[in-house]
Amino acid sequence: MKSSIPTRRFDAVIVGAGGSGMRASLQLAEAGLNVAVLSKVFPTRSHTVAAQGGIGASLGNMSEDNWYWHMFDTVKGSDYLGDQDAIEFMCREAPKVVYELEHFGMPFDRNADGTIYQRPFGGHTANFGEKPVQRACAAADRTGHALLHTLYQRNVSARTQFFVEWMALDIIRNEEGDVLGVIALEMETGELMILEGKTTIFATGGAGRIWAASTNAFINTGDGMGMAARAGLPLEDMEFWQFHPTGVAGAGVLITEGVRGEGGILVNSEGERFMERYAPTLKDLAPRDFVSRSMDQEIKEGRGCGPNKDHVMLDLRHIGAETIEKRLPSILEIAHKFANVDATKEPIPVVPTIHYQMGGIPTNIHGQVVVPKDGNSSAVVNGMYAIGECACVSVHGANRLGTNSLLDLLVFGRAAGNHIIAADLKSQEHKPLPANAADKTLARLNALENSSGTEKVQDVANAIRSTMQRYCGVFRTDELLQQGYKEIMTLAERCKHVSFKDKSKVFNTARVEALELDNLIETAKATITSAAARKESRGAHAHRDFEHRDDENWMKHTLWYSEGNRLEYKPVQTKPLTVDTFKPKPRTF
Ligand SMILES: Cc1cc2nc3c(=O)[nH]c(=O)nc-3n(C[C@H](O)[C@H](O)[C@H](O)COP(=O)(O)OP(=O)(O)OC[C@H]3O[C@@H](n4cnc5c(N)ncnc54)[C@H](O)[C@@H]3O)c2cc1C
Repeated sequence: MKSSIPTRRFDAVIVGAGGSGMRASLQLAEAGLNVAVLSKVFPTRSHTVAAQGGIGASLGNMSEDNWYWHMFDTVKGSDYLGDQDAIEFMCREAPKVVYELEHFGMPFDRNADGTIYQRPFGGHTANFGEKPVQRACAAADRTGHALLHTLYQRNVSARTQFFVEWMALDIIRNEEGDVLGVIALEMETGELMILEGKTTIFATGGAGRIWAASTNAFINTGDGMGMAARAGLPLEDMEFWQFHPTGVAGAGVLITEGVRGEGGILVNSEGERFMERYAPTLKDLAPRDFVSRSMDQEIKEGRGCGPNKDHVMLDLRHIGAETIEKRLPSILEIAHKFANVDATKEPIPVVPTIHYQMGGIPTNIHGQVVVPKDGNSSAVVNGMYAIGECACVSVHGANRLGTNSLLDLLVFGRAAGNHIIAADLKSQEHKPLPANAADKTLARLNALENSSGTEKVQDVANAIRSTMQRYCGVFRTDELLQQGYKEIMTLAERCKHVSFKDKSKVFNTARVEALELDNLIETAKATITSAAARKESRGAHAHRDFEHRDDENWMKHTLWYSEGNRLEYKPVQTKPLTVDTFKPKPRTF
């Protein structure tokens, strides 16, 4: 079987050309390694390009700040589920990775004294929660766009090899469980290739497309999670998904938290700035889980806006047209195109919308994938790293603070790169490919190709999305989760009976979508199974039947395995690297 598929060899194979993948590839290519980066789309179309608001780093350019306050905010924001060693590492490294970007040529907005412009963002505070701080380094409301283009240009100059419109299908592991690379489909020709890597890095981004209303790009179908699950690896903390408070009602497109950072406020149908009631200190800049729940509550209690009372309003008129045009130009455009309002004159209708997965493939702070071993310890999966949104380090715990994802991409993309460089790959050989390397993937493709099933890919994918939307929303209950679990398991069966008519090879998007469905369903199963089991409310997992956080029984990470749809748990790393532990406290803002 092996010989029928062409093979190419690299020191490092990176799946994903978003911010995390390209930060890692840059580190490796500049160190002289032979690096392949695969992407389903042209690199600068990865979802990172859509990031708007900013990158968190305690530069202290506009108000006093330090990494320790940033660490406190991140631990508290995570509802104490984040690993404090990883959080300390990230917050300490933050200024360094932002200055590096600046030196790479990233066009940040500037203050009059030439320093990087920073705006306030949800949950970021000075002096341990006293008042909002200005920590989000921004390029207007197009920070991800500026970041991704900067990294792409640096990679081209460092001679990273891009495989554009290539879709990785599966991970290759040997008997010992070492990862040896991936099997991928060249979308243009429909041909397969094995890309062997002495090391393989997953940087495949999130899976927000398992929900119907999502701020995510259409390509965010959870391929990394699906491939990892099929290869027997666990997925961590998949019950924790962030609803962003301000998606455009009815459209899902994101309105950045930077709008509230610049002074925008949320109002209900009575014109009341309701966040003052829920979060007296941080108000509209409380963390996202908190604001989303407050909005949902307002809507449930009948104070929603519009004919169906199903959204609230984001008002930024008082900021003034000049500031809006300078700092939030894309928001003006999005409000106009997707809500038909002129945001300088009218408020924007918004509703909590799925945005970000806190969970993912479990890793340590070097980005190495780790799995449990003998009870409480863990072992590294040789040859495999995961970084960015598909990974769970875990720096975001049960709820991510805005601006901490772009930071996560840079810090852990770079850290993984450095760890791989230190392993001196040039002195190592590729491990031999097992004879059956491609068997499972070929069997999956053959079954799909020859399927006589009557299910249509789009119907099943849409059913997954509406099921997740209905049963796994901002507020959850036992009844909803149990029903959702049943429906997702039924859909998993339906996935086995999909077929498509067009069997052509050249750029056949029907085949690509059918293959993506295999990943959507693994991610949905992981999410609903993990959520149905967690009997507490923590961060983004708000459970009506268990309204409080239960540190005694649930201060632990979930690990979900596809085989047998099984759950295990592992302890939270409460010990930071150098400072004292931040002990759990009630979260008020
Ligand atoms: C609208 C929006 C705005 C945001 N704003 C901010 C912000 O202001 N600040 C912040 O910190 N965070 C923000 N976030 C979150 C942040 O942007 C993302 O978490 C982050 O960009 C993800 O980066 P990544 O490198 O993990 O993956 P992505 O940028 O999503 O890239 C994934 C890559 O993997 C590739 N890929 C996936 N599957 C396969 C496969 N099977 N084969 C080959 N390639 C594959 C894709 O082609 C792509 O290149 C925002 C998110 C959204 C959706």
